[in-house]
Amino acid sequence: MAKYLGPVCRLCRTEQKKLFLKGERCKSDKCPLNRKRGVPGKDPKGRIGKRSEYGLQLREKQKLKRMYCMMEKQFRLTFDKAQRMSGITGENLVQLLEGRLDNVVFRMHFASSRSQARQLVSHGHILVNGKVVDIPSYIVKPSDIIEVKENSKKFVVILDALKEVSKSGVVSWIDLDIDAQKGTFLSYPRRADVTDLADIKEQLVVELYSK
Ligand code: SF4
Repeated sequence: MAKYLGPVCRLCRTEQKKLFLKGERCKSDKCPLNRKRGVPGKDPKGRIGKRSEYGLQLREKQKLKRMYCMMEKQFRLTFDKAQRMSGITGENLVQLLEGRLDNVVFRMHFASSRSQARQLVSHGHILVNGKVVDIPSYIVKPSDIIEVKENSKKFVVILDALKEVSKSGVVSWIDLDIDAQKGTFLSYPRRADVTDLADIKEQLVVELYSK
């Protein structure tokens, strides 16, 4: 399974947007964007010149893809699937991204970042409806029950990540039992409910891939 191995904060600096790839650090003063670090290798003040239409579409796609820790091929396949579904392609894309098992594990606060969630899934620490599923791209269905495997419930990374629930709460499309480390994926979220993607224009991704 291919994954990006370079410095992740650089990805945020390139987009000049927090992509929340490093868990707790992203909310602390250690985040380079909180310290106003500019675009790497370009203008030291982080200024970005006027972008072409293609440039804007490309950057929007890169932001979304990087937020969900995906490589190009996998992201494109997800887009193709969204296009085949009925409804608005951009909204379908967001729903499919939100339905990925690694993302659901992150949303349930069993991990402090999507990459950590991906690792928990691929190492077999997560059950879906009582069975181990070790495929991070597995798409969860409404009413599926996701839980941490019994032997893994004392993992420090999971217990630490769960502390975040008291600070930021749980998204409305997930019902979480913190003590049992178990949650239900109630439904795919409506686009407007995914507030951390509020400034993402998925329509630009649709336009990019429709060329
Ligand atoms: Fe991005 Fe988090 Fe690094 Fe900040 S700390 S630049 S949000 S990955």
